[in-house]
Amino acid sequence: MNIVILGPQGCGKGTQSEMLARRFDLEHIDMGSFLRKVAQQDTPLGREVWEIQNVTRTLVPKRILEEVFTLKMGSIPREKGIVFDGFPRNVDQAQYFEEALCEFGRKIDRLIIIDIDENESIARISKRRICEGCKKGYILGVDIQDEEKCRVCGGKIMQRVDDIEEGVRKRLKVYGEETVPVINYFKKKGLVSEIDGKKSKEEVFGEILEAVENI
Ligand SMILES: [Zn+2]
Repeated sequence: MNIVILGPQGCGKGTQSEMLARRFDLEHIDMGSFLRKVAQQDTPLGREVWEIQNVTRTLVPKRILEEVFTLKMGSIPREKGIVFDGFPRNVDQAQYFEEALCEFGRKIDRLIIIDIDENESIARISKRRICEGCKKGYILGVDIQDEEKCRVCGGKIMQRVDDIEEGVRKRLKVYGEETVPVINYFKKKGLVSEIDGKKSKEEVFGEILEAVENI
């Protein structure tokens, strides 16, 4: 089973990907966190990724993304299914993704889109906080009220620039311009299931299970 889960920021795709991976013993691939892991490695590729993320702060170029993707795919046993969390993000990546999967003897079985509107996305993301030290995530009003110090390490709790309203709007714009065409591309192939992300976590998960039931 090879599943892709996409949706705007704050739709809950990370949580749902994790739940799905646990249920069917799938590998959960989140390219963002995998790239951060690669950046910690003392290899030519690791050093290059680290530099991009910490010094030049540009988007990871296609060549590196593809190298990292191949590296990750090569580490997963063939019989194990995968849930791709938030990838591919644009049409260019989608075309590469299809070809690369094919080379690894896999195909995309289903794309799950968890949809929420712009206001909901902004409302959810603007509650995110993160510890400056250990990077533990908190949700304002749920995990914390007005604490300033991290419960784990005592570090300062802050809001990422990307998570303030303007940052979220910017990312939503990119999502609309670049990721929505990916969804339309796979819709033509009849591979897309759309789910209302405003429902509860359990309801959304129930609908995902229905969407993958016949795979
Ligand atoms: Zn901390």
